[in-house]
Amino acid sequence: MTIEELLVFGKSHCHSDHAKILLAELLNKNPLELLNYLEEKVEEEIVDKYKKEVLALEEGRPLQYVIGSVNFFGNRFYIDERVLIPRFETEELVENTIKYVEEYFDEPIDIVDLGCGSGAIGITLEKKLSPKSVDLIDISKEALEVTKINCEKIESKANLIQNDFLEGIDKKYDLIISNPPYIKTNEEIEDIVKNNEPSIALYAGDDGLDCYRKILSQVKKNMKDKCLIAFEIGCDQSNDIITLVQEYLEDVIIEVKKDLSDKDRMLFIFKNIK
Ligand code: GLN
Repeated sequence: MTIEELLVFGKSHCHSDHAKILLAELLNKNPLELLNYLEEKVEEEIVDKYKKEVLALEEGRPLQYVIGSVNFFGNRFYIDERVLIPRFETEELVENTIKYVEEYFDEPIDIVDLGCGSGAIGITLEKKLSPKSVDLIDISKEALEVTKINCEKIESKANLIQNDFLEGIDKKYDLIISNPPYIKTNEEIEDIVKNNEPSIALYAGDDGLDCYRKILSQVKKNMKDKCLIAFEIGCDQSNDIITLVQEYLEDVIIEVKKDLSDKDRMLFIFKNIK
């Protein structure tokens, strides 16, 4: 079959842009470039693979899992159903965190990423900040298998630890960062998310705050004298999380930041920094 025929096939089963993206990925071209090669014949093996992928999309599998990777802050992370698909909002968390670390820390820092999933946050910070150490922690053994693939792929030296956040861990960190699950058990979310992404990476109890509660109850022992905590949060959770922080930590400054869609999305806790 030719590229043109394959794009027509794709269009009849899924969004035409997605069809272009899938075929371009398989042919190692960029999607726009494909239009210059419409008459070109595609080898059988790729045709079969492409058709399978198009049908998987039609059945409601997310594009990122079908492609098997996602670009996060300039690096390509391998992903599959064992981990959450890294989101744009999380890039914003990383971007703001990098700014704060560059502004407030002079020496290489010790970092921990709690609920690391694919490793997108922690590995990106390692690449951008050249820290002293990076620990990537997740409770899910399956998720850590994906983290490991990304450490090899992106040449990261981070330590992988299977653990329930910071339970039983004594090490002290300069930066504690997390995008934990924060969806309420009964919250309505898109089917494509609910049916495909790991529920352990999405849900956090009746009020969606279980993970913040747990992390905040554990974290005091892990904070260096000067320490930054960075959370991604649900857009309606800032007040509740501020109350939780005040319950567990004294003498800290709390700052909530909005994402590009103007929703509360990040919460920073500064200890002896501002
Ligand atoms: N830290 C990973 C990410 O932000 C995974 C987050 C999660 O599983 N809740 O993509």
